[in-house]
Amino acid sequence: MSIPLHFRNKPYFSFKQFLSQRFDFPVYKLPVDAGFTCPNRDGRVGYGGCSYCYNPGFSPAVSGKDDTSRTPISVQEQIQGLIQKSKRKGKFLVYFQPYTNTYETPERLRLLYDDALQNRDVVGLCLGTRPDCVGNDTLSLIEEYAKNWHVWLEYGLQSVHDHTLKRINRGHTFAQFEDAVSRTIGRNIFICVHIILGLPGETRDDMIATIKTLSRMGIHGIKIHHLHVIKNTPLADEFYQEMVKVFTIEEYIPLLCDMLEYLSPEITVQRLFGEVLDDKLLVAPCWKKPKVSILSAIEAEFLRRRSFQGYRMQDITQASILSIVSHKQAAEMQK
Ligand code: SF4
Repeated sequence: MSIPLHFRNKPYFSFKQFLSQRFDFPVYKLPVDAGFTCPNRDGRVGYGGCSYCYNPGFSPAVSGKDDTSRTPISVQEQIQGLIQKSKRKGKFLVYFQPYTNTYETPERLRLLYDDALQNRDVVGLCLGTRPDCVGNDTLSLIEEYAKNWHVWLEYGLQSVHDHTLKRINRGHTFAQFEDAVSRTIGRNIFICVHIILGLPGETRDDMIATIKTLSRMGIHGIKIHHLHVIKNTPLADEFYQEMVKVFTIEEYIPLLCDMLEYLSPEITVQRLFGEVLDDKLLVAPCWKKPKVSILSAIEAEFLRRRSFQGYRMQDITQASILSIVSHKQAAEMQK
């Protein structure tokens, strides 16, 4: 079996490649903070949030700010500022990233999403949310945008196992995620799912089960993070009490490649490991390696194994791989 053609020069289906099959120009994500909170923090579902969560640690839009120091700058102003600062030539997807970006009435959401789409350099939206925060009226609103724009709904899930979801205080079940995905499918909305490898109490088989389950659900993208421990979170307390282990980079890379071998080649991989924006917030693991060298090490591991994303999926055939090559690529290949 050889590497699927639509991966091009990578052993996995990168998001860059996915976008290049849909746009004739480079497209980048712009993270914005629209001022949302989260039902797992404000008491509607729970207090304190997921055990690992500290938004300023992983979202550039709120980096350096806590819940009390977030300043209400309009989404449009944030976009203009980011585009002006960016040296990138191309178009942008506005990424509503921190907290829960569908946690409002559809009327209020419409104002925020419209504001983001005013800019002529914006070609779509990515909306980060939780599976228990997407009612049918909200999905119908997002579906309207998806008729004219490139739209992703990014569901935080982390694991398909309810015992893990409970342990990390997610405040929802896998059944709620399945329900949200089934109501999203068929609306022309791209679905991305966030997962974490190395969650407390999870075995390698548990993680493989998560990947295999997601591969069968009809989602379009995945973000894979390794468990990292951030200061002032419940997870940090567990870590200091030696109740939680984290991966060394030597442990993580082979595990990640194992997981990708079970992942459908139709799913684009938007992230391969977690990143903490401020080293001072990070408790563990401290890999001290630049992103580019971690990416090279992942590719080197695949090369050593002579494998790639989807390599261990039993039902994959070259015919099914070819069927998912985009029309644009197929035309290019025939030249
Ligand atoms: S759902 Fe997201 S924002 Fe809310 S507590 Fe969990 S990780 Fe944090």
